[in-house]
Amino acid sequence: MLASYAVRVEESRGRRYGEPPHPYRNAFQRDRDRVIHARAFRRLENKTQVFTRRFSDHFRNRLTHTIEVAQISRTIALQLGLNCDLVEALALVHDIGHPPFGHAGEKALDTAMRGYGGYFDHNLHALRMVEDFESRYLDFRGLNLTFEVREGIIKHSRQYRASEHPELGEYLLDLQPPLEAQLINLTDEIAYYTADLDDGYEAKLLAVEQMCAGIRVFARYYRDVDTHHHGASEKLKFNEALKRMFDRFVTDLITNTAERTHKATVQTLEDVRRCPERLVAFSDEVESERTECRQFLYDHLYLSAELMPEKQRAEHTVAELFEYWMACPQNLPPTYQEKAALEPLPRVICDYIAGMTDNYILEQHGRMCGKNSG
Ligand code: MG
Repeated sequence: MLASYAVRVEESRGRRYGEPPHPYRNAFQRDRDRVIHARAFRRLENKTQVFTRRFSDHFRNRLTHTIEVAQISRTIALQLGLNCDLVEALALVHDIGHPPFGHAGEKALDTAMRGYGGYFDHNLHALRMVEDFESRYLDFRGLNLTFEVREGIIKHSRQYRASEHPELGEYLLDLQPPLEAQLINLTDEIAYYTADLDDGYEAKLLAVEQMCAGIRVFARYYRDVDTHHHGASEKLKFNEALKRMFDRFVTDLITNTAERTHKATVQTLEDVRRCPERLVAFSDEVESERTECRQFLYDHLYLSAELMPEKQRAEHTVAELFEYWMACPQNLPPTYQEKAALEPLPRVICDYIAGMTDNYILEQHGRMCGKNSG
């Protein structure tokens, strides 16, 4: 049962190029399937989330992270009466614009572009990928996704100003996105906080005592589990405490969003769009727990000395390869040389590098810059 304020597929603003309806899949289901069958989606398997495989085969990569975001988002969407097909398509596509090497790669690409008066933004890149770079259909470029999926790609995690991005004018930039898109930003956070604590523990970069000292909500659950299962292994007690924290975040997001929607007397999708603030949100109490969790991860994992050499190598690889092609564009693949006749060279190189997997950029760096950077 869809809530009255959910997106209805039959009211979709449609695709850029009209297509006859499919006999048994609705437009959002088709979008979801197009994302899954895209080349960029398959490349997520070889893109770093936080940890490279140097540590373990069990760590998340961007593909398994994406699948976790889709799972959490579907669960929440169903409870809130949102459009699960749209939510699933948005979750599966949400990280498709990420370059190799996680945030280190993103930062390096942005820095390289700023040297030429540009910048790199993964949401805008994702839109270009689904609109232009994917090439598998006879009748159009890109995936020809519905308006609602393209809007969600752009607006799920931030607002773009129409004055700064006139090219995004069609995406109703002065209005809120539907709840289906708002949801993705917070499920993404729930997914990567819990996953990064899990992987950080597995990598032996984070200890239980450290997490108890830095994340009060985790400490509460861990102490409770420890009292009732004192003889169990630390790993299983850790898993249980993390699971309870994860469940608390998800449950709070469902109940608090339902409450906010009710309080705002939101009845229709138009009401959602015209709301002064986003309605998908944690309660104040869980919001402060989320902030604490985030701060802990930055202090002890993302900016940790242990991960620094890997990040520096990633940034160096991106920067060096970028400058190599700026100096020697004749060594770009022919299709990118053709693009460079139509678009500024830094943009073409940025697009090429952003699409690469971790393995491919290392291989290219070795070939072009004459070094074995693996
Ligand atoms: Mg993500």
